[in-house]
Amino acid sequence: MIKQMGEKPWRVDRKPRLLNAAIVALVRNENLRGMRSTLRQVEDRFNRNYGYKYVLLNDVPFTDEFKQGVQAMVNTKVEFGLLQNGTWGLSPYISEDKVHQKLRENQHRYIYGDNLKYRFMCRFQSGFIHKHPLLKDIDYYWRIEPDVEYYCDMPYDPFRLFKDHKFKYGYTIAPPEKPETVETLWETTKEWIRRNKHLLPKKSFASFILDNNNNYNMCHFWSNFEIVDLSLYRSEAYQSYFDFLDRAGGFFYERWGDAPVHSIAAALLLTKSQIHWFEDVGYHHVGYQHCPQPRDLHLYCNCNPRDSFTATSPCQQRYNELDDITKKELLARLGI
Ligand code: GDP
Ligand code: MN
Repeated sequence: MIKQMGEKPWRVDRKPRLLNAAIVALVRNENLRGMRSTLRQVEDRFNRNYGYKYVLLNDVPFTDEFKQGVQAMVNTKVEFGLLQNGTWGLSPYISEDKVHQKLRENQHRYIYGDNLKYRFMCRFQSGFIHKHPLLKDIDYYWRIEPDVEYYCDMPYDPFRLFKDHKFKYGYTIAPPEKPETVETLWETTKEWIRRNKHLLPKKSFASFILDNNNNYNMCHFWSNFEIVDLSLYRSEAYQSYFDFLDRAGGFFYERWGDAPVHSIAAALLLTKSQIHWFEDVGYHHVGYQHCPQPRDLHLYCNCNPRDSFTATSPCQQRYNELDDITKKELLARLGI
């Protein structure tokens, strides 16, 4: 095919070979407008050239209006799924009375302080999404949310990139977490490490999450956009880690988010070479945005490169500057 002036280099006229992957969101019927907006952007920026399937999940059945409304925005199949029993709700190991007491205590301490459903959401995204029947045979997912912005054309298949480079986790924005929401997450994580040293790899990017006192520095990958090789979440180590956290109760007594949980696991279980920063994914979700700055990356983006959180983010700086540490060094730094 002869390329015309101004024609984008990736406008291929043959059907690309797809991997076993899906674009996935947990979403409510009430988010129809926001979901249509996100889907349209993902479709226009990327997926209309590929045709990966979409999987939308909900804790209650999707309405016909929702199904028709989202299907109309995209060219490929949308699969709609209901969450399975036991994957949406309280952890079976914890005290319901204590949960309600803690919700009252935390009501004014941070956003979603007393929101029980928000905690169901974080627990589901941390421990169960990769096990849903519609995803259980899928190798990679790209997680999306309603009401976000994708500013840039994506001229390649990110799942193929993952396969070719053996990437396991990909993100675009790395902010710090609110410490009040994860008060005992690090203590609990250390206890899991103490009991499960055999599950840690010989080296990892744990340096990313440790401060000078070897406590958790609150850095995490913002999981409202994440591309993941799901073998990470299905690994014995991750499953063991999630189960330990679930038993400790912090998804409810505190407000542990799926973002710090995924991120701490990725940092402990992966090397830096397996964690990919999508510098080229211009992205906005309420709170932060990333707009690519190098001109070649910015050319097909609809955002202001001066308006980018990532440029000054201390967590991103850590990603840029630090290297892996050995398991031996990690255990020594943690006093284990
Ligand atoms: P935030 O980004 O942390 O403020 O949380 P969101 O409200 O954006 O929720 C994260 C994701 O979970 C979004 O994709 C929401 O659509 C979805 N979500 C949150 N709560 C619920 C819920 O109660 N039911 C369903 N089905 N989806 C939810
Ligand atoms: Mn959100």
